[in-house]
Amino acid sequence: MLTLISAMSSNMEIYNTFGIPATADRYLVVEEESQLRGMLSSGQLVSPYLILGGGSNVVFTKHFPGTIIHLENKGIRMLEETPGQGDVLVESAAGEVWDDFVRHCVAQGWYGVENLAAIPGTVGAAPVQNVGAYGVEAKDIVYRVRAFEIATGVERVFTNEECQFAYRNSVFKGALKNRYIIWSVVFRLHKQFTPNLQYKALLEALQAAGIEQPTPQQLADIITDFRWRKLPRPEEMGSAGSFFKNPVVSVAQFEELRSAYPDIVAYPISEGYKLAAGWLIERAGWKGRSLGRCGVYDKQALVLVNHGGCTGAEVVALADAVAQDVHKLFGVTLEKEAIII
Ligand SMILES: Cc1cc2nc3c(=O)[nH]c(=O)nc-3n(C[C@H](O)[C@H](O)[C@H](O)COP(=O)(O)OP(=O)(O)OC[C@H]3O[C@@H](n4cnc5c(N)ncnc54)[C@H](O)[C@@H]3O)c2cc1C
Repeated sequence: MLTLISAMSSNMEIYNTFGIPATADRYLVVEEESQLRGMLSSGQLVSPYLILGGGSNVVFTKHFPGTIIHLENKGIRMLEETPGQGDVLVESAAGEVWDDFVRHCVAQGWYGVENLAAIPGTVGAAPVQNVGAYGVEAKDIVYRVRAFEIATGVERVFTNEECQFAYRNSVFKGALKNRYIIWSVVFRLHKQFTPNLQYKALLEALQAAGIEQPTPQQLADIITDFRWRKLPRPEEMGSAGSFFKNPVVSVAQFEELRSAYPDIVAYPISEGYKLAAGWLIERAGWKGRSLGRCGVYDKQALVLVNHGGCTGAEVVALADAVAQDVHKLFGVTLEKEAIII
């Protein structure tokens, strides 16, 4: 017997921050581990499957002809203190809202996650694309991930290394895409607060606020405020945040680009240079422009936005047009960060 925690009719719309009308054959909400185990062992799940958290990194382009699984499991607890090292292992259920988790950690005196404040979505999705902001990525703090294979129901624990974290990527977005349900994540955090202020714009925002040595709370607040000045709030304008990844090019290609465009924005990394995709899009003339009801955000060219009634097909058409022009101008390929469904 399939444990149907909650089922929606196929006409019901599924929440996503882009605000795109989306439907699926089945939509299951799971709150308890026993329900999940029962559901997986029943062998009656209708494929294809899609695990959906807060819907903040997806673009629905059509009706989903299968089962959407949405986790609503809750709970955050400290598992262990590692004496001498000042670290704590903190476990969070996948269904927790990411920002609630960040705020809870700050309040408890568990540090290292403050720079990731206000990223939309859930804890379970954070390892999937190795969420990152202001010089910190999930890979820096994820200790292990507990997940269930959908096809077999078998539980598996992934170490940080086994997650194969990379820039906005992991094994869950690659080889094991849609194969595992992440049920909980253990983070390694610190009891000693050492603010990570390596991101220049963040340092400037703190200076502008007259703060030299921020408390963890102040740091999370400043980051939250800073983010929402640059990004559209989902309740006001639909988007999936940064739509493209910042492309990585070789040193030789970067030098060539820099001689043609001396003001190009780029950061040196071990593989060469990471180019600011927003700068490329802006220089290709797309900032603030629209195609149909989908547009390039006028405050940040890396973000595609829903101007009202936009469909997934319109988002993809705009993304392709932008990527094509960037390639024509710079010879650089833009890869989508958002997941097209
Ligand atoms: C305004 C805005 C700003 C953003 N800023 C940032 C940012 O600064 N940095 C950043 O990295 N991202 C950012 N994002 C993108 C997004 O917030 C993150 O990717 C987030 O982790 C997605 O969480 P979600 O729960 O909404 O996942 P969803 O969009 O629901 O799903 C994303 C992917 O994860 C999979 N998934 C979700 N939950 C699970 C689970 N429990 N088990 C297995 N797979 C799962 C889904 O199948 C899908 O492939 C932003 C988005 C918006 C709208």
